[in-house]
Amino acid sequence: MAIDELKQQIPLLDYLQAHDWQQARPISFGRLLGLCPLHADHKPSFLVDPNKNLFYCYGCGRGGDVIRFAELYHQVRFPQAVALLHQWRGLPPLLHEAAGFYRMQLHRHSEAVAYLYQRGVRSPELIEHMRIGYAPGGCLRGWLTQFGYPLQTLRQAGLVTGSGYDTYTHRVVFPLEGNLYGRSLSAAAPPHRFLPGAKGGLYSWEQARQYPEIILVEGLFDYAALWQAGFHNVTCSMGTHLNVHQHRQLCDRMRTVYLAFDADTNGSGQQAEQSLACRLKQQGMNVRRVLLPDGHDPNSFFVEGGGDARQFQVLLEAALP
Ligand SMILES: [Zn+2]
Repeated sequence: MAIDELKQQIPLLDYLQAHDWQQARPISFGRLLGLCPLHADHKPSFLVDPNKNLFYCYGCGRGGDVIRFAELYHQVRFPQAVALLHQWRGLPPLLHEAAGFYRMQLHRHSEAVAYLYQRGVRSPELIEHMRIGYAPGGCLRGWLTQFGYPLQTLRQAGLVTGSGYDTYTHRVVFPLEGNLYGRSLSAAAPPHRFLPGAKGGLYSWEQARQYPEIILVEGLFDYAALWQAGFHNVTCSMGTHLNVHQHRQLCDRMRTVYLAFDADTNGSGQQAEQSLACRLKQQGMNVRRVLLPDGHDPNSFFVEGGGDARQFQVLLEAALP
């Protein structure tokens, strides 16, 4: 049966570890104990049996298999949990292939390079670091089917529409963990798009997490501008709302978090920033809010506002608790 097969293909421990779970100590019969990812746990009460692929929490009393875990962790119902697990298992190689294709297209399309230039993305190191590509539209499907990916799989991943066309057309593409973000070049199309499924964790977290002080921005072009200016302790939540996974990543140890969201004229960025700051402080984080000049985001601060690294450093030092 398909469900049993899925459970066999996804060891519970692998899935937990991919979601940042760490064992505190092994106990008898090969079982492991660690903090519970499902409730605010202070002493390890989450028991994992990797042989039986089952978990149980002595704190919140919940337990079950990998599907049950996905339901509770992502707060979804059974069919969605199964879909998420299917996607988690099969998606990485497919997205990797698609991202590789988009990267090959970037330098063949001057409109894409010109767009990046205009958004301040100019250094080849940055393009390489972010693995930026371009979706011209109308040729990804052919490329991937040639590698044997069935059309159905491409549709499920959201790379191809129901009517068989490439989903991303005239979009600059940034590979994420388990997704691809596409930024439209054309003002006529919705600017931001993700493939179906979770937007994943914090952007480039493995690099950023090494720093005791982290700058959090809401957009990938903000990330790009800061990285290019030499701030490599930057990460991005792709929107002002952090999902459970991103929140957990940010709070995985005590650190200082500089929030540098957009200074929208309508104040929505500041509001989101304020409520996030509260939540992070409750977790014991040291939070600073970076005040950008009115109407600016970190990208426009550098690209349109003529700001430089030294001036941004001044903003960091002046950031409010
Ligand atoms: Zn628990």
